[in-house]
Amino acid sequence: MSQLNPHAGSLFMVAAPSGAGKSTLVNALLAKEPDLRLSISYTTRAPRPGEVDGREYHFTSVEDFLAKKDNGEFLEYAEVHGNYYGTSRVLINQFMQAGTDMLLEIDWQGTQQVKKQFPHAVGIFILPPSIEALEQRLKKRGQDSEQVITKRLLAAGGEIAHAPEFEYVIINQDFETALSELIAIITATRSRFNQQAARNSDLFAQFGIHANLS
Ligand code: 5GP
Repeated sequence: MSQLNPHAGSLFMVAAPSGAGKSTLVNALLAKEPDLRLSISYTTRAPRPGEVDGREYHFTSVEDFLAKKDNGEFLEYAEVHGNYYGTSRVLINQFMQAGTDMLLEIDWQGTQQVKKQFPHAVGIFILPPSIEALEQRLKKRGQDSEQVITKRLLAAGGEIAHAPEFEYVIINQDFETALSELIAIITATRSRFNQQAARNSDLFAQFGIHANLS
């Protein structure tokens, strides 16, 4: 594709309360969909054991984060569980214009901000199968203190309250089922008229199909 077109790339936003199994699902999705690229967020939270700077997050100081925010470098940002998180505006714009499908793992606050700028962005909410399952998963993770777990359980209710703002909901009861549902959403979105028209402009021109890319 020679022309830059904002419709060429699809933008997916995946949100969930902590403990819904979002990261495991997203990692499995990325392994199956090599053309889907994960946006690496900036955060002021400390790395968990095993996390690597530049892989899970760009770990940064509060001072640096606020400077970037004031510079308008974030497409969206939010304070979640007492830490700042933000998505690089430049990176998203670059990849979207080049036609790369992007996936953002962000919370409901970020999702609302992105929707204002990319109305075609697709919101996917991941729900745990029950409150008990959510609690168990948070405890099993074992990477956070009791205090942090309690805080996240309380916050889970707040995140879930925003589920109606998302186009799709996946209930993560059975991992393989949830993953195939996630893949189905990606495939369906890629088949939208405007996305296909942008990716296959030569073919559409041959058939005399004119896309309305407003
Ligand atoms: P965690 O600290 O467990 O990795 O993430 C905590 C929460 O922050 C999750 O709900 C995650 O979706 C959210 N989050 C991660 N990165 C971003 C981001 O760039 N923007 C926003 N708004 N939320 C984010």
